[in-house]
Amino acid sequence: MHDYDLLVVGSANADLVVGVDQRPAAGETVLGSDLAIHPGGKGANQAAAAARLGARTTLLARVGDDAYGRMLGQAQRDAGADTTGLLEGKDAPTGVALITVDSAGDNSIVVSQGANARLTPQDVAAARPLFQAAAVVSLQLEIPLETVAAAALTAAGSGARVVLNPSPPAPLPDDVLGLCDPLVVNEHEARRLLEGRTEGGSGNDLPGTPEAWAEALLELGPRSVVVTLGAAGALVATPGTATVRVPSPAVEAVDTTGAGDAFTGALGWRLGRGDGLVDAVRYAVRVGSFAVTRAGAQESYPSAEEIEKAGG
Ligand code: ATP
Repeated sequence: MHDYDLLVVGSANADLVVGVDQRPAAGETVLGSDLAIHPGGKGANQAAAAARLGARTTLLARVGDDAYGRMLGQAQRDAGADTTGLLEGKDAPTGVALITVDSAGDNSIVVSQGANARLTPQDVAAARPLFQAAAVVSLQLEIPLETVAAAALTAAGSGARVVLNPSPPAPLPDDVLGLCDPLVVNEHEARRLLEGRTEGGSGNDLPGTPEAWAEALLELGPRSVVVTLGAAGALVATPGTATVRVPSPAVEAVDTTGAGDAFTGALGWRLGRGDGLVDAVRYAVRVGSFAVTRAGAQESYPSAEEIEKAGG
């Protein structure tokens, strides 16, 4: 029996959001709405999503010794996550995402990685007890790639299952790809990973169906692949078995921010509890679709009771 269903290793950011009529062009200054500050970052989002559902969750991440770092820690505790692995350093500020959203709903985002860029393989080595206590370790790419690789290898060495969402997309070393079970991608990430790796072409020449992308991704070496398809749900591919489509419940989408992180956090939890991959994806699709019915990222994440009530 593990102490944690899920260890998330990744980023924690303060999202600073201002609404504008039109996003400014180069050299232009525009007036915007009051500033809204939200907890974000893919790692923190995934951990919050899982913890809110009732998962025994812990987060290995770095923040600065500042108000945003303390806000992020509080948001994790409010969601029910353990924060023993949330490291606070004086050498860099907490990561921030500067987001302007225009009246059409389109946004421009600048990310200042801050402390996220200082999460090192040494931090992973020092956190080995967390890896040994976790059933599943979930990774994304908003921290240095060498730290992601160290975390994947440490997870495997501890007998934990590795879930990896390559976002933002970057080439992954083969030894890391080979540990992913599953590799979780959206359509954009699938294209980027396959770019240049499909026979004779770029990702833009991808075979037409998501099933075909999933098969092509399996050939890169992961143990399984999950492709998320927005309102269409997700699909699951494992070597030697037919690809399974999992439809999403029909919902009225209000804000899709952080839906992918809600999906992956929920998936990691269900795998950590011992669900099979297809069952875990069925649950994760329900959580992702619930998250789009409410505004925000972490603020939109449901409890297990809310998912139960929503049915689906
Ligand atoms: P994001 O970057 O917006 O966080 P993503 O691109 O990583 O998300 P998506 O494939 O868009 O991931 O969505 C993840 C999951 O969220 C889907 O599998 C689905 O369960 C749910 N979802 C997303 N958009 C919708 C929608 N419009 N209606 C219903 N469910 C949705």
